[in-house]
Amino acid sequence: MQKVKKKTPTVHSRSTAEFQALSQQVIDESNRDLPWADYLSKISQTLIQFSGCDAIEMQVKVKDRKNTCEVTKRTKRSFSFAIVPCALNLDKIKSPGREAVPGADRPDLPLLSEENNAWTGNMRSALTVECPDEKMSSYYCCKKMNKSYQSIAFIPIRVGKHRIGVLQLLSRRKNFFPKNEYELYENFALTLGPVLLNQRSQAALRERVKELTCLYGIARAVEKHETDLKDILKQTVALIPPAWQYPQITHCRIILDGESYTTPGFKTGPHKQTAGIVVKGVERGVIAVVYTEKKHKLDEGPFLDEERHLLNTIAGELALIIERKHSESEEINLQAQLRHADRLATIGQLASGVAHEINEPLCNILGFAQLTKKDNQLPEQSRQDIEKIINASLHAREIVRKLLIFGRQMPTKKVRANLNLIVKEGIYFLESRCTKEGIELLRSLAADLPEVVVDQAQMTQVLVNLVVNAIQAMPDGGRLNIQTQTGENHITLIVEDTGTGMNTEVLKQIFLPFFTTKDVGEGTGLGLSVVHGIVSSHGGSIKVDSKAGAGTKFEIHLPIPGSAKPIAAEVELNGKIQRK
Ligand code: ADP
Repeated sequence: MQKVKKKTPTVHSRSTAEFQALSQQVIDESNRDLPWADYLSKISQTLIQFSGCDAIEMQVKVKDRKNTCEVTKRTKRSFSFAIVPCALNLDKIKSPGREAVPGADRPDLPLLSEENNAWTGNMRSALTVECPDEKMSSYYCCKKMNKSYQSIAFIPIRVGKHRIGVLQLLSRRKNFFPKNEYELYENFALTLGPVLLNQRSQAALRERVKELTCLYGIARAVEKHETDLKDILKQTVALIPPAWQYPQITHCRIILDGESYTTPGFKTGPHKQTAGIVVKGVERGVIAVVYTEKKHKLDEGPFLDEERHLLNTIAGELALIIERKHSESEEINLQAQLRHADRLATIGQLASGVAHEINEPLCNILGFAQLTKKDNQLPEQSRQDIEKIINASLHAREIVRKLLIFGRQMPTKKVRANLNLIVKEGIYFLESRCTKEGIELLRSLAADLPEVVVDQAQMTQVLVNLVVNAIQAMPDGGRLNIQTQTGENHITLIVEDTGTGMNTEVLKQIFLPFFTTKDVGEGTGLGLSVVHGIVSSHGGSIKVDSKAGAGTKFEIHLPIPGSAKPIAAEVELNGKIQRK
């Protein structure tokens, strides 16, 4: 080693035992399972305290990570610590060889040891000297140091022959490092290399285990067949914090379709990482991971590249799960629709069969009752009774007629017609009833409504059934709005009221024959079944929007003949398609 003229040594030199204690402390810290940034911060601060330097810079490239950390003394007890992008190309620094050391006869110039460590106690004069191979040398690195430092130590950190970093000790004072400490620091750097490598390996392994545990947990949640999407999202939210570096300060929130799922007591904080949940090209939501406290900067703020990757993976997984759940529920829906359609068809057939059977005896009852009524000799009481029989039979015949329409057993007579005319005639008979019930009747009929091919009597029936229901739904008056509109391939008849509306339970059942919420005598439960039967037989569709307490809107779509695009024959209840 070359000699450096030591002026006034300003720190007393530490013993071998003190350096051994320092090494031990660094090893002990590495066994505390600290996150990587915290470990670097910890040992940098330990070193600055131990050395008494004004600043320390440590550049390390361990396994997958390349970090530079800087600690600067602010006051005796407070330090600033930061991880900044690596400025030196560690792989390129090599020994210039003893002969390249400038000013070997000048004690104030840098001294290079065998290990290519550089020490200087007087940087200002060292800077005046040129070095032949300076771009590659540690001496050059010393020269690039902040000029406010006078004493600089530049000690490579190695694992075996492989250089994994550089430790720089910086002091503003001249000749700060006692000469006998050079070797002790260099020995310490020999311990530091393997310790850093071990700590990083352990930390990387822990991160990987956490990541796999999180993904496995999500896979388990999905596996449970009965678990629905909401449960999966709730479980995912709980699985995320333990997979991040600082579980204690990590919160998570998933927002999907405007609904939010969060860790208990969720709050935002200084650091946030997000990933969008994109299902079939549409961003349906977002996952956010939040640190509620400030942490050292790493790859993406304080977050690791691995955490970014994990978050993206989770968002991708959730998107797939959502897509799968969606097709599952669509399948269930479709099956329910088929069952429903089947049921309606069977009931329709049964009902019309029964209606046929009843029709004949009913006609006999009615015919004979009317015949008997003609007898002038009848006592008054009998005449009244026969009148009741006739009325009851007429009522029964009306039900039979409706059943036959519902079962599509009535002969139809379809002609080209303008629905506006049918509506005008139909309303004519209902107007007086509306006025009586305190209902304001509004109509808005499209001027250029195309003709449709319909059975006019049946269409009147549709209108009457919808309007009667609307009137009955507004016992305290209200507003009834009847409209016709022209669509792309269909025309629309709208009957909208401001009445009682329906809850979901009722809405689901309205097209079932005999389903009624009305008192005996007020409703047969066949009105909407008939509407459904007629509209279906015309290749049309029905849309209902209803809200309990807020009124109901029925839309009947009928195809425009010759239209290139046929309309889908279906029923839609509050936006949900019920049946094809
Ligand atoms: P009914 O009117 O004889 O009960 P419907 O088949 O016409 O039979 O109607 C079935 C049920 O649907 C009614 O009992 C009622 O509960 C509900 N409903 C139909 N239209 C309306 C409406 N405009 N407002 C509120 N509820 C309605």
